[in-house]
Amino acid sequence: MRPPKVYSIDEHRIPTFKIDKQAYYVIEKLRQNGFISFLVGGGVRDLLLNVRPKDFDISTSAKPEEIKKLFKRSCILIGRRFRLAHIRFGKKIIEVSTFRAGEMGEAKLILRDNVFGTPQQDVLRRDFTINGLFYDVGVQTVIDYVGGYLDLEKKLLRTIGDANVRFIQDPVRMIRLLKFKARFDLEIEEKTFLALKENKEEILKSSPARILEEFFKMLESGSAKNFFYLLTKHEILDLLTPLLSKFFQEEKLSYDLIKVVDIFIKKNHPKALDRSILISSMIFYILEKRLQVNYIDKKIFFHLGIIAIETKKVIDDVFRPFFHISKKMKAQIISILVNQFRILPLITSKRTRIRIPRDPFFYLALDFFNLRCQLNPKLTNIYTQWREKFIDSHSKKRKYFKRKNANI
Ligand code: ATP
Ligand code: MG
Repeated sequence: MRPPKVYSIDEHRIPTFKIDKQAYYVIEKLRQNGFISFLVGGGVRDLLLNVRPKDFDISTSAKPEEIKKLFKRSCILIGRRFRLAHIRFGKKIIEVSTFRAGEMGEAKLILRDNVFGTPQQDVLRRDFTINGLFYDVGVQTVIDYVGGYLDLEKKLLRTIGDANVRFIQDPVRMIRLLKFKARFDLEIEEKTFLALKENKEEILKSSPARILEEFFKMLESGSAKNFFYLLTKHEILDLLTPLLSKFFQEEKLSYDLIKVVDIFIKKNHPKALDRSILISSMIFYILEKRLQVNYIDKKIFFHLGIIAIETKKVIDDVFRPFFHISKKMKAQIISILVNQFRILPLITSKRTRIRIPRDPFFYLALDFFNLRCQLNPKLTNIYTQWREKFIDSHSKKRKYFKRKNANI
């Protein structure tokens, strides 16, 4: 076993105050009880890159039951295959996992990943060298078994172990590769790059839910435009959703709304927009174009009911080849997109009266329309009028219910 390279605070310069208080508390408590425990993964990477970590994950030698015993009611164990501990501090959750061993050598899809291991085994099973660093809060050192520290300095993305094997074992890693490139503007190391080209079709063997989750995480990261550009360029999006990939390649305005989403998220918060709005920002122009080509150009009459049917078709055509969109999400997207044409009809000769529909998701449609205003400030006036009417109608409803209850 090769000893790890250890970097002192003089070298890594991670300021102690940037380490999350609760994560620090959890690590200290584990250590005081005789367990090894480190910060690991994305949190350490982000601290070294000087970006604000989204979350702090902890790896420890304590077994799930031992963690539970220490943290009692603030700790719940989750997961069936491999149990993780979630330690709660109000709304915040710190994830603690026991050191695990992975299968490094075999080039086949991993279905199980549930053997306890040593700290070194725990980092070797991780995806990229930059995600395989430990931070020891006790002595403030970065512990590196995989060469991730130097890769971060060189801004290089490299798999841990043989890239071909690692991508076949878990093809979602290819999506994650492009995600980190998009987010941190890193170079992909040559063997890793060749393995991506070689194995891209493997992506179809992975779980649609996991890929969709990575898409959402990217839409919530502020770097979604870069991410979808890379997914398209490397011909991965084409395998998952050919229609969307073609649209990104052919239509000039295809990224416009996603760019607005990126700016909005960066200004506000990763969760500032509902996920149905995020999906809507990807497919709105596809719908608009279909309505133009199929109805307006052909002078065929259409109304909101037809738009709803077309929207459903667009969602199915875009996502069905690989993904599953839940019924509730679909209903929300339909409502958001159809209401765009209520707020601003395609045929503008008709002057519309502002009437707020009885639709539980109308507020999402207004939020989406607000994003469109960033692209076309002329729409802001329309947005303001609808918004005022919406607020007004809600306060009236509330008054009505209050009165009704008072009568009872
Ligand atoms: P983000 O900032 O988006 O959360 P992250 O690197 O923290 O990025 P997570 O999904 O939170 O990503 O995963 C935490 C850590 O778990 C990663 O840093 C990596 O070490 C490891 N990991 C996650 N997914 C995989 C995977 N598919 N294969 C191997 N290791 C993984
Ligand atoms: Mg993370």
